[in-house]
Amino acid sequence: MAKRATTWTLVCEGCGKRHAAFAATMGCPDCAARGVPTVLQVEGRLPGRGDAAALTLGEGDTPLVEVPRIAARLGLAGLRFKIEGANPTASYKDRYVAATLNAVRPFGVDRVVVSSTGNLGVSAAAYAAAAGLPCLFLAAAGLPNAALLQAQAHGAHVLMTDPERRQLLFEHAVLARGWFPIGLRMPRRVSNPFGVEGYRAIGEELVSALGRAPDAVLFPCARGNGLFGTWLGLRGARGGASRMIACQPASANSLEVSLREGRDMPVELPPSDSVAFSTRERVADPMALRAIRESGGCAASASDAEILAAQAELARAGLFVEASCALPLACLPRLLASGAVRRDDSVVCLLTASGIRWAEHLPPGSPVPTVDATPEALDRWLAGAGLA
Ligand SMILES: [Zn+2]
Repeated sequence: MAKRATTWTLVCEGCGKRHAAFAATMGCPDCAARGVPTVLQVEGRLPGRGDAAALTLGEGDTPLVEVPRIAARLGLAGLRFKIEGANPTASYKDRYVAATLNAVRPFGVDRVVVSSTGNLGVSAAAYAAAAGLPCLFLAAAGLPNAALLQAQAHGAHVLMTDPERRQLLFEHAVLARGWFPIGLRMPRRVSNPFGVEGYRAIGEELVSALGRAPDAVLFPCARGNGLFGTWLGLRGARGGASRMIACQPASANSLEVSLREGRDMPVELPPSDSVAFSTRERVADPMALRAIRESGGCAASASDAEILAAQAELARAGLFVEASCALPLACLPRLLASGAVRRDDSVVCLLTASGIRWAEHLPPGSPVPTVDATPEALDRWLAGAGLA
C-alpha cells in the first residue's frame, strides 16, 4: 500500500521504536519476534472532525445529564450520565470507527472487516457506507436481529459462522485477502491504536462540560479500550485527573481479578455468559489495566440480577440502555460502600450505547392488554389499574 505523509506516527509501548502504520497492523514486529505482543500508540494527531477531508457522521459531543431521582437514592449529588446512545449509530463505537477510518483511508484501504457482538459491526457498516467501502461483518451468535438488519441496510455483507471459528475467518480475511480490520489486531492482545484515539474526545468533552475532570469516571468494560481512550483525554486536565473505574459483569471481570492478583498482564478467564452481552470478553487490554493503576482507580463487578435492576431503574428514569451500559450504576452501591467512590465526588457514568437495538434481549415484558374501543371500557380499565 502507498505510504503517505501523516501528522502522526505509531510508537511501540515496549521498545519505543517508531513504525509506519502498515508495517505495524499486528503490533510491533520487533517485539513480536521476541515473543512479546505489544500495543502501539499514536503519537501526534489523527485527522478528525473539523478537518475538511475527514469522514464524519457527526459523532461525539454527546449529552451529559443529571438524573436527580437516582442521585438522591444513592446520596450522590454530583452524579451524571454521558449518553453515548446519542451518537449516529447509537453507540460510542462511532468514535472508534470514525477515528480508525480517518487514520487509514489515506493509505488506500479499500475494504474493511469487523468481527463483532453488535454495536461495533453496525458502526463499521455505517461508516464504511459513508466512505463508499465494502464492509464484511462476521457476526457473533446471539446478537440482536436489529443489528443485523441495520448493518445490511447500510450495505454490509453480514455472515454468521461457528463461534469457535469466527476469529480464524477474520484472520484469513485480513492476512490472506487484504480486508482492513476495524477492531482488534492479531494476535488478540494487540489493540487497534487508532480507535482508542477516537475515545480521547470523551475525556475532553467531560472536562469542557464540567470545567474540570470529574473525580471518578465509571466505564462499562469488555477489553477496556473505551476506558483507556477516555483516560488519554482526561490525563493532564487542569485541577487533576479522574480515577478510572472499570465496571464488568461478575462472570467476565478480567480487570478486577488482574488488579486483585497484582498482575502485569490481564488475566484470561474461561468463557462465560452474562446479560451484559457486549462485555462478555475473556481478557481485558493491558492499556486499560495501566489507565486504572495510573489514575488511582479500581475495578468492580456486578451480577446479572444487579445489572438488570440498574437497567430497569435507568429505563424508568427515561434512559433506555443496553444491559452492559447499566454496569456502572449496578456497581455504584458497592463502590460507595468500599469508599472507592465518595459521596462528595463528582461522578460520571458512561452509558455507552442505546438499548434500542437490544430490546429483544430484555426479559419478557408484561402482556399488553386489549380494551374495547369505548370510553366506558377505558374507564373500567383505568379503575382496575388504580388510575381512575
Ligand atoms: Zn517494540
